[in-house]
Amino acid sequence: MRSELYIDGTWVPSLSGETIDVVNPATEEVIHSFAAATAPDVDRAVKAARRAFDRDGWPKLSGARRAAFLRAIAEGIRSRQAELARLEVIDNGKPLPEAEWDIGDAAGCFDYYAGLAEEFDRTPAEAIALPDDRFTSKVVREAVGVVGAVIPWNYPLLMAAWKVAPALAAGCTMVLKPAEATSLTALELAAIADEAGLPPGVLNVVTGDGPVAGQAIVEHPLVDKLAFTGSGKVGAGIMAAAARDIKGVSLELGGKSPFVIFDDADIGQAVEWIMFGIFWNQGQVCSATSRVLVQEGIHDALMARLVEEARRIRIGNGLDEGVLLGPLVSRRQYDQVTAAIAAAEAAGATVACGGKRPPGLDRGYYVEPTVLTDVPLDSAAWREEIFGPVVCVRPFATEQEATELANDSRYGLAAAVMSADEARAERVASAFRAGIVWINCSQPTFTEAPWGGYKQSGIGRELGRWGFENYLETKQITTYASGEPWGWYIRP
Ligand code: NAD
Repeated sequence: MRSELYIDGTWVPSLSGETIDVVNPATEEVIHSFAAATAPDVDRAVKAARRAFDRDGWPKLSGARRAAFLRAIAEGIRSRQAELARLEVIDNGKPLPEAEWDIGDAAGCFDYYAGLAEEFDRTPAEAIALPDDRFTSKVVREAVGVVGAVIPWNYPLLMAAWKVAPALAAGCTMVLKPAEATSLTALELAAIADEAGLPPGVLNVVTGDGPVAGQAIVEHPLVDKLAFTGSGKVGAGIMAAAARDIKGVSLELGGKSPFVIFDDADIGQAVEWIMFGIFWNQGQVCSATSRVLVQEGIHDALMARLVEEARRIRIGNGLDEGVLLGPLVSRRQYDQVTAAIAAAEAAGATVACGGKRPPGLDRGYYVEPTVLTDVPLDSAAWREEIFGPVVCVRPFATEQEATELANDSRYGLAAAVMSADEARAERVASAFRAGIVWINCSQPTFTEAPWGGYKQSGIGRELGRWGFENYLETKQITTYASGEPWGWYIRP
């Protein structure tokens, strides 16, 4: 396990000497510590990224050359998959098979953007037709510059990959700050990039507290673009700070995503997708379908099955065989989720199952899979993200009522619908005001497809070619191709 900052191709302690403890959420034991960067460390990292971009030629390399580095990083991740997955479990708490899945996806993300970098070489400048034939004009795309990336703790390595891979593929250089709760695999990513021979300064990883190291990145005048994933509150602060010196921003924020289930759906399948949609990763998923709307005809039967299955989920240390639900990431998150459940009850909600610390698990940040009913529409439990294994279920009568309830949210990240009637599912999918819509499932995510939200769920898209374009500027090159004087003061 690494503990130093990775700046300009070397490992260095923080200038202040401060550190942050790593706590295993399954045992509450301190297992490690790492450097807490402050503004002077961030300044060094940003200046290294600036030099790598402006002088050392990273954006001038061909896409194929950059792709070779990205493929080597993908290979490095794959060759250490077991070790990285284990680190993710002891740092974040998630069950090992899910961590293995994340690590594989992270490697795949580097391969995918390597492909786009290669394709970039083959993409000709776009000629623009102008109404004046004395001119020709073309449009070229170029790297945005130095990117400051700040990421959350729910998918530590994968969230890093979603930003590092497209940014480096596009020719940007980067300063990455992982979440203070889960920084171990981001440091390993730096080590893998280093082994892959990535030139110094292209990727810098600074660990530290959000309001200190994160804020220093956000406010640094030499950063061209901020790429952030996290809470709406911090995202709003980042956007305000970016406004001061007109930095580009892309934001992937929270959600309170609906899942509409019509009464022609198969109850068994519906229950499995509901559970995956809210209990996967302990519900600490921005796109979690945490508001489930079930048509009256199957509501009671579905609820009975959901409660029965939720009670059966095996909870425990993510390293133990067969565990489906691990601890929440931190004491802070545990306190927030349990407080949200208590507030829901106080507002009139009924706890149909769960809601407590599981019996026999006295240490670790465990919360039972929780199903809430009778949740008032104006309560925080219905309207605000809980970011834990807590789902609100509510009956509805008509398609119109369901879509209105689904869209009645300040968020618009994801939404899901399940119905045997294809036309109805398509109709509801098109009515959803959300950036990610699933039909007959919830959560499957592909590197090729755009990811991001409407409304207060964010700005911009990650993944796919949209994620690549996040890191590109647009330049027009217009040529006066006529030999004739322009005629403003020289008479022809
Ligand atoms: P958070 O906003 O508290 O922290 C996210 C990151 O921001 C961390 O690295 C943190 O250190 C940093 N940070 C905190 N204060 C900062 C500041 N003042 N300046 C700069 N950086 C600062 O969020 P979290 O609790 O770590 O993550 C959970 C949130 O992330 C949820 O709301 C969730 O919905 C959202 N999320 C969204 C997506 C998505 O793709 N839309 C994915 C994962 C998580």
